[in-house]
Amino acid sequence: MNNIVYTYGNKIYLNITNVCPCRCEFCVRNNTDGLGDMGSLWLDHEPSYDEIKDAIDNFDFTGYSDVVFCGYGEPTCALKKLLSTAKYIKETKNVKIRLNTNGLSDLINKTENSAAKMEGLIDAVSISLNASDAEKYDSIVHPSFGLKSFDAMIKFTKDAQKYIPSVKMSVVDTIGEDEIEKCRKLCEENDIELRVRTYIK
Ligand code: SF4
Repeated sequence: MNNIVYTYGNKIYLNITNVCPCRCEFCVRNNTDGLGDMGSLWLDHEPSYDEIKDAIDNFDFTGYSDVVFCGYGEPTCALKKLLSTAKYIKETKNVKIRLNTNGLSDLINKTENSAAKMEGLIDAVSISLNASDAEKYDSIVHPSFGLKSFDAMIKFTKDAQKYIPSVKMSVVDTIGEDEIEKCRKLCEENDIELRVRTYIK
């Protein structure tokens, strides 16, 4: 059984990579091997585009209206495959496509504007804000790129607002009320909706 496509709630999820440059304190990967109907989201190898396409072709999309790129890794670590897959889904299915991301694609892919490449392919993006400043972000997310990651994530979010119809940020409810308020203010200043997520144990 492939573990590229899985469902959770009423959405289809695509687990296209296990690679991630971060080690978030609250990463679901630390606590459980699987989500939804999938036993394990650990891939035995990084899937090729053809393997992802096959997994999609073999899944019955009937009754689903949303597909989310979100698995046990950062989807933009496989940016080329992510974009090709989104294009294929746009051409063959009648669903909205959302990307859940850490927002570090520009650093990961050594590019100036990843968000522009997503125009017309990704309908909605949810970016993990995680903290209200670079130091706190670094202490929670532990990105391999260090302190510059926070600004890169904010830049990606602002770029996304130009190219992607729906842009939201998220924090996990365990960061504390003060931090949640600061994150809320940061989002308000940038006209971004903030979602406070419940920590999945
Ligand atoms: S960015 Fe996502 S996949 Fe990577 S460590 Fe953080 S929560 Fe886990």
